[in-house]
Amino acid sequence: MTLYGGIEAGGTKWICAVGTGPDDLRAHERIDTTDPETTLATVVNFFRRQAGEHGPLVALGVASFGPVDLSPDSPTWGFITSTPKPGWAHTDVAGRLSRQLGVPVGFDTDVNGAALGELRWGAGRGLGSVAYVTVGTGIGGGAVIRGEPVHGLIHPEMGHLMLPKHPEDDFAGICLYHGACLEGLASGPAIAARWGRPAETLPADHRAWELEAYYLGTAAANLTLALSPERLIFGGGVSKAPGLIEKIRHQLVEGLGGYVQSPIIESGAESYLVAPELGDSAGICGAFELARKVGGS
Ligand code: ZN
Repeated sequence: MTLYGGIEAGGTKWICAVGTGPDDLRAHERIDTTDPETTLATVVNFFRRQAGEHGPLVALGVASFGPVDLSPDSPTWGFITSTPKPGWAHTDVAGRLSRQLGVPVGFDTDVNGAALGELRWGAGRGLGSVAYVTVGTGIGGGAVIRGEPVHGLIHPEMGHLMLPKHPEDDFAGICLYHGACLEGLASGPAIAARWGRPAETLPADHRAWELEAYYLGTAAANLTLALSPERLIFGGGVSKAPGLIEKIRHQLVEGLGGYVQSPIIESGAESYLVAPELGDSAGICGAFELARKVGGS
């Protein structure tokens, strides 16, 4: 039996689990993100306890908040790099966990992890390529092409795509770096800042959702043009707003203007732009998949 460890490392919590996939989670623990020393020590203790109980882990996968260093030849591979999260900039995560737990570690962004998880077990099953976008307190996106997560120079930062402003939108946006990028215009906090109340309190017929669909649908069109994935998966709390995903599809098809000639898009994109199937487990499942990639079998 091949047992993996998985970590979904976030800015507020680290979800740690042991198992082989979504139907086989042996142990699951939420560890608060405090300072790196305390958090990583608690994580190491969790996996040591689990190995004692369930048997040795073959490998560990970490799907992490970032930015992260994913260059295999870099001396800081596996580090969280320039994060604004206090205390966490330039933290060695993968190397430290690998040394302390004595297992190989697969390491990638949280959103590439979620894309991998959905591709293997969720809404991308049977496909070779998907892009995954999460819309919540921030916006992030990852992609897997031909089974491999996409990175190169650094890694994709789809949350900060630069989009044309809606002609009736005079909101300046809230991104600290760009103002009116995708995250600055369409994240949960951007919606709250624009309308003066939290996104979840806005009724389904509020104009906010038209604007939201405009930006997310335009982003979806750009991802289609740039990556040509076989499916786009839109997750995160904001994406769950009633009726929003249908509006995003409509904007996507409209935005592409018939240029991308694929029946799956021309027929309304219903099976092209979809919700995740793994829900909150996408990240941890992706982490198992990262572990499997470095642990063999
Ligand atoms: Zn930005």
